[in-house]
Amino acid sequence: MAGFRAIHRVRCEQIWLDDGWAREQLVEITPEGFIAAVGPAGETSVDLLLTGPVIPGIPNLHSHSHQRALAGLTETRTPGKDDFWGWRDLMYRANRAITPDDLESIARCVFIEMVKQGYTVVAEFHYLHHAPGGDRYAQVDEMSQRLWSAAEDAGISLVLLPVLYTYGGFDQQNLKGVQKRFYNTLEDYLILLDKVRKSADGLGNRGYGLAAHSLRAVAPEQLATLDRVSRVDHSGIPFHIHVAEQLNEVEECIALLGARPVEWLCREIDVDHRWCFVHATHVSRWELEAMAESGVVVGLCPTTEANLGDGLFPAAEFVALGGRFGIGSDSQVCSDPARELQLLEYGQRLKYHRRALVMDSDERHNGNALVHRAVAGGSQACGRSLTGITVGAPADLIELDPYSPRLALRSADEALDSWIFSASDNSIRTVIAMGREVVTEGRHAGETVATEQFLNTLKRLTDRLIP
Ligand SMILES: [Zn+2]
Repeated sequence: MAGFRAIHRVRCEQIWLDDGWAREQLVEITPEGFIAAVGPAGETSVDLLLTGPVIPGIPNLHSHSHQRALAGLTETRTPGKDDFWGWRDLMYRANRAITPDDLESIARCVFIEMVKQGYTVVAEFHYLHHAPGGDRYAQVDEMSQRLWSAAEDAGISLVLLPVLYTYGGFDQQNLKGVQKRFYNTLEDYLILLDKVRKSADGLGNRGYGLAAHSLRAVAPEQLATLDRVSRVDHSGIPFHIHVAEQLNEVEECIALLGARPVEWLCREIDVDHRWCFVHATHVSRWELEAMAESGVVVGLCPTTEANLGDGLFPAAEFVALGGRFGIGSDSQVCSDPARELQLLEYGQRLKYHRRALVMDSDERHNGNALVHRAVAGGSQACGRSLTGITVGAPADLIELDPYSPRLALRSADEALDSWIFSASDNSIRTVIAMGREVVTEGRHAGETVATEQFLNTLKRLTDRLIP
């Protein structure tokens, strides 16, 4: 992470700690980027003074960075194909053209967009493993290496989740066309996973986990093996899977596996806190209760789910059951955690004709309640055992801009509410990720070059992105 200033001592006028807001605190940070101490600030000299409200960085638990190239380009009406599956065809067409250089350029740009808006760690659900047509690159982890490199340049921590994608449906058809880029046998996959593990080893800003694309893309035996691998061979690393995003996916699952996707996972696999169920949009009451009891994190991506017309996850009921969730930018139509949380709450308000729903009755500020859950659930899904601004946790801090006209003259909680529900521009002034100052005065040192490279990539790709 050369190029970013290391912060060892930061003084915060208002900071969000486990037991509430505290004033005039000194946060001390180890050279490796973890919080060493938090306590009242004295007269000690500091590297940085933050006068706006300081909150933990937000984890982005579900990203496909390459889809940033397509964001905003799929809004033309195509009769008969204006649904998730029509969008997927377009996305696949775009995937066909992406080279390793392209992936690195696109990922660098979107990772910088993320970190500027308050995400400090991103879990990349990575399935674009091979060359077009399915040929292997000379280095089997070539695409993974490009993602590590892009994240280093952006200063965001990366949790890389190589995805097992073996079949093209619940009936275990072979992958066709562009899907061949995603294909791995279980044996190939475990080799790739080992390479990813080695690349992440010992680095605080790198993590890794397992992922299966979906129940339609892997066989039940593969899933059971991977669950064991996560639990035994990799000491409980995260395990992510897409579930129940589409109604016809639920129907096919019932027809071929005899149960709804979440129900099947909760009955057949010993799911627990390691697991992240991405989307889980279409669930029964029994499934909601089973997810809450097992401790899985539901990965919600509200702007993508809205964009694709997926449906509405019953977030208010899930939170009332004590269920855990985090948020993700998924298809990259939005890189702003505040907008994800706003839409998550607004979906419930529009459904129930009431306000302040994704929170408990003893909580007071909706913004605080949403951020608290996104940080806790997102950290869990990223394999982080400590969450928030606490000793031993990664030093990921974001400062809300005290001079933004939408946040100024408010208490810290009111500013947090305003960030989620009122701010229309980027209201993050400073971002510290793993103890490095990555965003200063709302700017990232690499953004101009990264944007230029991204636009050059896009120029080259555009003709091939959309027919
Ligand atoms: Zn996804």
